[in-house]
Amino acid sequence: MGGKMASAMKRKCVIDVDIRHDSVLRVANATHTLCIANQRFSDAVKLSPHRINRSNAGGGVPFSKAFCETIGYAVEFMFGDVFQSGIKVITDFLYQKTLPADKMDSLLLRKLLDFVKDERRIKVYHEKLSGTELAVTLTNHLFGKLATLGSYLVDRCDAGEKEVECSCIDQSCETAGRYGDTSIGNIDVWHGDVDVLINNDLIVQHLKDPPRSRGENESSPGGQTPVEAKVNCSVLAGNPHITAQTTVFSFLQKKTHPERDHFLIPCFGVGNSTLVVVFYDSEHDVLLESTHIPLFRSSGCDEYEFNDTAIIVSWLTVNYKYLCSGVTEDMKSFKGDFFEDVREKMKIYEGELQLGNIAYPVWNVLKKSLQFSSFLEEQEMKLVAIIHREMREQGGIE
Ligand SMILES: [Zn+2]
Repeated sequence: MGGKMASAMKRKCVIDVDIRHDSVLRVANATHTLCIANQRFSDAVKLSPHRINRSNAGGGVPFSKAFCETIGYAVEFMFGDVFQSGIKVITDFLYQKTLPADKMDSLLLRKLLDFVKDERRIKVYHEKLSGTELAVTLTNHLFGKLATLGSYLVDRCDAGEKEVECSCIDQSCETAGRYGDTSIGNIDVWHGDVDVLINNDLIVQHLKDPPRSRGENESSPGGQTPVEAKVNCSVLAGNPHITAQTTVFSFLQKKTHPERDHFLIPCFGVGNSTLVVVFYDSEHDVLLESTHIPLFRSSGCDEYEFNDTAIIVSWLTVNYKYLCSGVTEDMKSFKGDFFEDVREKMKIYEGELQLGNIAYPVWNVLKKSLQFSSFLEEQEMKLVAIIHREMREQGGIE
């Protein structure tokens, strides 16, 4: 078999997965923002470790009344470093343009590629949606479509006995969700309902106090539409319930799936047209908050296109069971101090959780040092090479 045959077969694989130059470029650029080892790159998606200073996690408090004062460490990590498995799947695929031999990796990649190709648009009056409606609509149009199983449960308290309806403009839109009991925790510690529960392994919660960019206020967004606004403040500071839900859920996952390699469990926070991912590791006591990622950009009247970075972050997060690699050794030293905080109730958090406030904004003006692994550095170089190759090929033959 000559070189001609080999290149024809290679081309066939490219056609099989139907990925065009512009899609490769978009996926490569978005993945690059999770790996970029450059302090000055403003679009980079990072993770900030936090520690809990004071909280009411030791009392029988519902999430809605959770109090949790968190303080950010003067250090940042790259988002890609907790998803090393997922970053490798994407980078290897983009480099070779053939689907991986591993069946699960291949299935997950197809989900991502199909989404990028066909499903990235949404018609919605997003500013008129309630927090829960936004959480459901995003689960239906983004998170659920990128997951291996798209079924989800919506908190029944919010809407009575009605069928779950998507709040997008498309009248014929079907949902894979149903109403049910989304309560988690234990009555003697933090507990309560979450907005949406995807496949019993991921929480989507609207942010009661969505972060706003500096200088932005409700009536005059300063020339930027909310969709484009960038935000810099800490979501954990304004939303103690999301810290409470994430920590409880991580302990719950550790109890129900002790066989897993790690217990770094993510939780989606949505609001103000941005997405944030909060993580808690109930084994190593590490609490992480991601940068706020714009969810979509306008592509017409009440029409939006999901942001490339939001798509990659969502894909990695909904499939965290397969794509998340857990905290790195460097992250383990930045303790969340949750174990300290609930010393007397630790037995309940460790063994007795079930499935079923006052905010202190922390404006961290400290200059944080950025840390990343040598693995991520290698992946970043590979992504840069892919981006250059695609740009050359796009500008050349086509
Ligand atoms: Zn819809």
